[in-house]
Amino acid sequence: MPLSKCTRLVLFVFGTGRSLVLWSCLISFMFLIGCGTLDLTKEHTGPAPICDIHKCEMHPERISVGGEIVYMGNYWEICRTQFPHHGGNRYHGETEKTPYGRNVIDYVCPECDKAYHLYWKNTQKVNTEKEK
Ligand SMILES: [Zn+2]
Repeated sequence: MPLSKCTRLVLFVFGTGRSLVLWSCLISFMFLIGCGTLDLTKEHTGPAPICDIHKCEMHPERISVGGEIVYMGNYWEICRTQFPHHGGNRYHGETEKTPYGRNVIDYVCPECDKAYHLYWKNTQKVNTEKEK
């Protein structure tokens, strides 16, 4: 039975529309599963955790994760011993809890965060002086 032009047009638009909805659902689902923010604090119960280095209370914050750490010299050692709970950008695998390519919500220590920013400020200053 031949379909009228109008019926074909309706089927085409409806079909395309439905596939667009399916595609956007699929893309949203992949985004949620693949690169959504991972909440590392959700398992925690009880009072706010204390920073093992600075002995102060930590609070949950959203932290971006990205970049490789290969050319960072002794950054790993400095980070782990001086500011392990900073709230700045975290490199892939910076901690054993840091996932690859997914931002996290994790506890941040205000003193670690200060030390982290001071480290980068001083590193930039040293690099700028080297360039002169
Ligand atoms: Zn700290």
